[in-house]
Amino acid sequence: MKVLFCSSEVVPFAKTGGLADVAGALPVALEREGTQVKVALPKYRSVKDRGATEKMGKNVEVYLVENEKYFDRKELYGEGGADYPDNLERFSFFCKQLLDLLQKNKFKPDIIHCNDWQTALIPIYLQTTLSDNRFFQKTKTIFTIHNLAYQGLFGPEQFPLTGLNNELFNMQGLEFYGKVNLLKGGLLFSKFITTVSPTYAKEIQEPQFGCGLEGVLKERSNKLFGIINGLDYSVWNPSQDKHIFQKYDASSLSSKYKNKTGLQEELGLPKNSAIPLIGIITRLAEQKGIELVIGALNKMAKSKLQFVLLGTGDEKYHVALEKIKKKGYKNISIQIRFDNTLAHKIYAGSDMFLMPSYYEPCGLGQLISFKYGTIPIVRKTGGLADTVVDFDASKGSGNGFVFTDFTSEALFNTITRSIAVYSGKKALWSKLAGKVMQQDFSWNASAKEYIKLYRRALDEK
Ligand code: ADP
Repeated sequence: MKVLFCSSEVVPFAKTGGLADVAGALPVALEREGTQVKVALPKYRSVKDRGATEKMGKNVEVYLVENEKYFDRKELYGEGGADYPDNLERFSFFCKQLLDLLQKNKFKPDIIHCNDWQTALIPIYLQTTLSDNRFFQKTKTIFTIHNLAYQGLFGPEQFPLTGLNNELFNMQGLEFYGKVNLLKGGLLFSKFITTVSPTYAKEIQEPQFGCGLEGVLKERSNKLFGIINGLDYSVWNPSQDKHIFQKYDASSLSSKYKNKTGLQEELGLPKNSAIPLIGIITRLAEQKGIELVIGALNKMAKSKLQFVLLGTGDEKYHVALEKIKKKGYKNISIQIRFDNTLAHKIYAGSDMFLMPSYYEPCGLGQLISFKYGTIPIVRKTGGLADTVVDFDASKGSGNGFVFTDFTSEALFNTITRSIAVYSGKKALWSKLAGKVMQQDFSWNASAKEYIKLYRRALDEK
């Protein structure tokens, strides 16, 4: 099977967020599963500066769509907090040019796998302006939503720049409250839609999480699937991690405590391997449930636990957290910055990891925690609901602690519940930690799911 994987960012070439990680790892996993894959992205300045483009994986060729005017710029999408005003033009060009390039190179994909609004025009062109094109007659498109909040919205005056017939600018087409919505087009014109977890796939069909597109998604419900992201274990693996104080794996879990005391020392927390240490590493954004953490901090400060927060983001949370920091609680460490090395140390050194998200399309933190034998405490939403099962001591089932209500009380009660298990029988906790470390959330399983869906797309009329 021949697959073209299109993304506006791909690790190691260009990255602003999680999409780049997926686009860097999934095609390589697809190749391992026997698919012939090529990857396509714009040739940004950062890509050009790297010089010759190496292949990904064993033999995944990378197509770079070139245009100095559009892509030889400092950033990918915008500068100084403002989007580039010609983004619609830039990514229309990318999609058109790429489809030309495929024909020139005689690479006829069975599947074109598109990601987010920047590539949404590909399925649209294939179904409209190129519907009579013989080259693509059998090509099917899959469209993956990584973040429904970013839809590629543009003023109606820009619609002609897409090259599409004006008739498509209506409610049944790309129009969205008077604007052009590229993501909406991608959802309407692709064969199948996927998003990054089964629960999120359901949640986005409801007004609460649908960002205005719930109607479109509900209508295409039988074409919409959730496939959980994988984790790159070459980056996140305590047995090989160069950032942490002491390497360990499930058979040497007792060495994990050296990471805990190392972390305590580094953060200025009292050195004590017996006290439960809870970590959180996050963008400080509403989505992540930061207000629940802030609401629970006073109680946490008075409890027999230690807590470390690492994060950056919205100014209002910086202000609130700085205020708490000034109170000088001995058992609370607040680190407002982005720090990858410290992040590794926190995953390795903590006993529990918090993710009280309001919504979470997939979430990486809980998967990383598992690998480090750190037990996640999560709110039941999106990918968290699909990967974390509440621990039941009587059956020994579950792999974390789960709560439902979006309140500080529910969060704090669940922390308390986890501490009771932690401080109860030491052997029970070690068993749980050992068990979660051995789960497999590698990309292989996800790649298999995508291939199943590709097959189905090719089989279905
Ligand atoms: P999202 O992509 O929505 O921010 P995820 O849980 O999918 O959330 O992934 C976030 C990733 O970024 C995790 O690997 C997390 O450890 C990392 N991260 C977030 N904030 C920081 C920070 N301040 N310092 C270091 N790493 C961070």
